[in-house]
This record gives sequence, structure tokens and C-alpha cells, in this order.
Amino acid sequence: MEKTLVILKPCTIQRGLIGEIISRFERKGLCLAGMKMTWLTDEILSEHYAHLKEKPFFQRIKDAMSVCPVIVCCWEGVDAIHVVRQLAGATNGRNAQPGTIRGDYSMSVQENIVHASDSPETAAIELKRFFNDDEIFNYKMNNLLALYAND
Ligand code: UDP
Repeated sequence: MEKTLVILKPCTIQRGLIGEIISRFERKGLCLAGMKMTWLTDEILSEHYAHLKEKPFFQRIKDAMSVCPVIVCCWEGVDAIHVVRQLAGATNGRNAQPGTIRGDYSMSVQENIVHASDSPETAAIELKRFFNDDEIFNYKMNNLLALYAND
């Protein structure tokens, strides 16, 4: 089992899509291990988007990510990091495949609905960045056999 971080971005909250997006992950069969609403600071966003520090849009994405609170989620499942990235789709909503979250709900490269960790290393760092240990819950859903059979 892997755990991964998803952030429902301010555009998702503003557009009233919280339930829609959470249900995408839920109905896929991922297990919700943590969830909270939080208002991201410039400090945490500078750390989170440090890989984009030299880009001209660095300040713009930080501003966009702090116009209102976001919802941070921890989703768990077999290969959850890859599965969630596949569900999210390509960064630019206009290029993302229909059927993916960004492909179905976004017309923008910036306002692209969700953030999703892109590797096991990043997921571990990002979950620590946004959650305290006691905000992540370890439990098993009782439909695991139906979800994974003998995988
Ligand atoms: N972004 C942007 N312009 C770009 C590339 C990225 O505004 O040309 C924003 C977009 O919101 C994206 C975030 O910066 O989700 C982080 O970019 P990254 O390359 O890490 O893409 P992701 O992993 O989110 O698909």
C-alpha cells in the first residue's frame, strides 16, 4: 500500500467541485487516510513549489494557491501515487485527456483542480509537509478483497 498527497486547489473550492473531485478518488477504490481544510502560507508554498522557483509564474501560482483555503487529502491504495497521477491527468487542463480530472474540469495550466505527488519520495515529503502524524489514520476498508482480489 502507498499513501499520496492530493490538494484540492482554490479553483476547486471556488467552483464548488469539492464533492465531485473527492468522489473521483473514492469511487476508484482509494482509501481516505486523512483530510483537512487549511489556508496555505507563502512560506509553505515556497517550499512546496521550490522546484519552480526560477519560473516566471512562481509568484503567480503561489498567489493563486492562497486566494482561499484548500483541502489536503491523503489517499491510500496499491500503487496509489501512480494511480492518482493518472486520475489527475496532464498538467495543462487543455491537454489532459477527457476522463481525467483535469481533462474533465480544467481549461487552464494554472487552475488545474488538483495537486498530486509525483513519486514515492515526493509523497513522503509532501505528506509530512501538510499533515501531522496524528492526522493520518491507518485503517483498512472492508472491501479490499473486492477491490484487489489476489493482486
Ligand atoms: N504551472 C503553471 N504554469 C506552467 C506549469 C505549471 O501555472 O507552465 C502550475 C500548475 O498549477 C501546476 C503547478 O504549477 O499544477 C506545478 O507544476 P508541476 O510542473 O509540478 O505540475 P504538476 O505536477 O502539478 O502536474
